[in-house]
Parts: sequence; structure tokens; C-alpha cells
Amino acid sequence: MKYDFAAIEKKWQDKWEEVKPYAAVTGDPRPKFYGLIEFPYPSAAGLHVGHPRPFTAIDIVTRKKRMDGYNVIFPIGYDAFGLPTENYAIKNHIHPSIVTKENIANFTRQLKMLGYGFDWDRCVDTTDPNYYKWTQWIFLQMFKKGLAYKTTMPINWCTSCKCGLANEEVVEGVCERCGSEVVRKEKSQWMLAITKYADRLIDDLDDLDYIERVKIQQKNWIGRSTGCEVTFKTNTPDEVTVYTTRADTLFGVTYMVISPEHPLLEKWKDQIENWDEIVAYKEAASRKSDFERGELNKEKTGVQLKGIEVVNPATGKAVPMFVSDYVLMGYGTGIVMGVPGHDQRDWEFATKFGLPIVEVVSGGDITKEAFVSKDENAIMVNSDFLNGMTVKEAIPAMKDYVVKQGWGKEKTNYKLRDWVFTRQRYWGEPIPWWTAPSAAGCRSPRASCPWSSRWWRAMSSPTTARARSAR
Ligand SMILES: [Zn+2]
Repeated sequence: MKYDFAAIEKKWQDKWEEVKPYAAVTGDPRPKFYGLIEFPYPSAAGLHVGHPRPFTAIDIVTRKKRMDGYNVIFPIGYDAFGLPTENYAIKNHIHPSIVTKENIANFTRQLKMLGYGFDWDRCVDTTDPNYYKWTQWIFLQMFKKGLAYKTTMPINWCTSCKCGLANEEVVEGVCERCGSEVVRKEKSQWMLAITKYADRLIDDLDDLDYIERVKIQQKNWIGRSTGCEVTFKTNTPDEVTVYTTRADTLFGVTYMVISPEHPLLEKWKDQIENWDEIVAYKEAASRKSDFERGELNKEKTGVQLKGIEVVNPATGKAVPMFVSDYVLMGYGTGIVMGVPGHDQRDWEFATKFGLPIVEVVSGGDITKEAFVSKDENAIMVNSDFLNGMTVKEAIPAMKDYVVKQGWGKEKTNYKLRDWVFTRQRYWGEPIPWWTAPSAAGCRSPRASCPWSSRWWRAMSSPTTARARSAR
């Protein structure tokens, strides 16, 4: 017998529309069950197979729970702000709110055809003012608690579109849309202080029923390390601070590296003898992404700051300072100490620039490569009072010494960064807008925010769009 799915599914789906068997009941005495999926982004392409896969899994769970006598809430909604909609809207001269409505209608039709037991009465659309008034409310609560704050951060900036770009919109250093040069530009950004919760995000994992692999990934992502901040004197009135988990290697520091974006460079420009060379290096670095500067950067580049010297507090000796783009302003203090004997990246840098490589942990052959062992067999050498200790003993001993000498303090560091919340573009949550002249005061819904409306008109006007597509 043939299963006439087209007729049967349609019949029951129409019936479900009418009697709403999947609506959660408010005030119901049955035990509650909450089944939550990640709300889809309603793209113009419609559902893809990656959507039904997890939805079906949770649909099965929630159906079983209903049969078990639970009052189930299984909501659905649309995470509907986003760049693809905006780009589509600009290209086709349609307002993104219209594009979003059309895409949501299509997604809804497709999801209903699949017969999921969603509570459609509670469907949300993140671009609806009735929804995002709560996004704004939450943002304000965080602002009041000091969890939302403003800072200056480098972003990808298209020199022609005059707007910020997401990393994926920068292709080989140029704007994906117009082909113009993209530079790193310092812009005022709203940040959410997620790092204030870094410890709880790690420690509270113990109470969660997650598989071990996921817990480990989470811990690595947060990347908690305990070390210390050490302050170095320089031949300028300024001191510089580095963060290190290996204070035990301080006697092996033979140079320092500063990030090209570090504000001290500008401050020192009269004292730096090769300032022109530094400016050229800074400009070249501003055209690279963080990824290019970190992961992809096999060949280390840099320029010595002539006229600047830093004093290693452990040895009392002056060491040179370099600017290099592998040091990012966003991590640690934007300045690192170079210990070429015991860090492979530092070893390569020192070898390239002919800097001394000092052995402070014995057991390897530092003429061939850095020796990075931290075990009991690695014994400290060339390190004054640490000589003869194992690395394991030397790390806490040197940390205490640094604090006692007033060179620094203990510090816990995280790889996790505070979250850049500011959307660089128009079709995003209407929180205060970074380019607005009085950004902090701009809390009006996006549609009535005069600044963003002006931006939208400029971006979507036929002349602008023609000029852009002609490039
Ligand atoms: Zn562009």
C-alpha cells in the first residue's frame, strides 16, 4: 500500500494549525519540560539539511516527553539580523526588513511542512521591535552593572565603503564587495565583559552533564593560566609590563617585543632613531588580519627600536626592543619578553636577528632549537639563586621573588577575550551605534535612529550602489 504522504501530512498539519496540540500551557500543573534548539538565521536560500538534523532530534525528545505527561515548551524563532541579509538588500535595493520578512515566511512554510511540534504561538523574530526592546533592556542592565563598556579596538575598515567589515568579508587584504584596500582602523567599540565570568565558566563545568570532550574544548577556549606581570624599566620615563607564565626564565630574557599598535610607540617617537622605519612597519602590519599575523605567520618579521633599551630586572642588563606584528595588542599587555633558549618562536626570532640565546634550563641543545621541557629533570642554570632547582620548583620561587622585589604581581590570564558587541553595520541589534556623534545617548530603535537611517540611505541609494558595483 502506498503512503500518500502529501495528502496525509497536509491533512494533519492543517489540523495542528487549528487545535494547536504543541502549544505549551501556562499555569498547567503537569511537570515542565523545555526543549530548546538554536534558532535559525533566515537566509534567502531557505532551509538547508543542517537545519532539520538537530531540529528532528529534539523534536523526537519533546514528543516523547509530551507522551510521558509533561507540559512541554518547544519554541522556535529567527535569529534574523545579519550581514548576508544586509548585503542582499544593498545589492537589490530592498530594505533589509522586507528581505527578512520574506525569508522568515519561507522558513516558516518549510518548517511547517516538516511537521515539527514547535509552539508557533511563541515564535520570535529578533528584528521585531517587540523582541529587541528586550535585547536593549538586557544591554542596559549590563551597562548599569559595568558589564557593557566602550573601548577602542582595531577593526577591518574598507577605505572605499567607509565601513567596518567582518573577517570573512576581507579577501586577500581587500574588500570582498568593492575590491578596495582594507586597513586596520582603531574604532570605539561596545564590549561585553565576558572575561569577568571566565572562572565560573570553567569551574561550573563540573556541575554540567556534558561529555568530557566538550568540557575540555571549553576549558581550552577560555585558556586560563596563572603567571605574573613583570615590570621592566626602560631608558625612557616609561616602564613596560609583560605577562608571563614562566617567570623562572627571566634570567634568559635577551630582548623584548612590542605590538605595532602599542600607544608607547607614538609616545617614544622623538627618542626612536629609526622612526620612519617603524612607521612603515606599523602601516604594513595594519593591512594584515590577526590570523595572518598569528597562525599563518611562519616567517617572523620585525624592526628594532633604535635608541630604546629595556632593563632586565633579573640580570640588570639592558636588552633591545623590537616591534613585531606577531604580538597582538588584544592579548596580554601588547608587549612580550623574548626567551629564545626556551621558546621556539623566540628562538627563531633571535636566530633571524642575531640576538643572544641564553640557556637557563639545562637538558637540551639550544644551539639547535629551543628547549621547552618543564619537568622534574630540567634543572635551572645561569639563573643566580634559582640554579639547581627544577623548573617546577623555580616557577613559584621566582614568582614570589618578583612580588617581593616589587617587580610585579601574580596574575591570572585568559585566552578568552571580552566580546566585541558592536555591529559594524546597519542590520544588527539597535544598541548604541559606534559612529553616532552621541553614541551613548542613541538608544532609539534602529528605524528611528537618525544616524543609522542616514547611513542606510547613503548605502542603499542607487548612485552609491552603482558606484560600488562599477568598481
Ligand atoms: Zn569596500
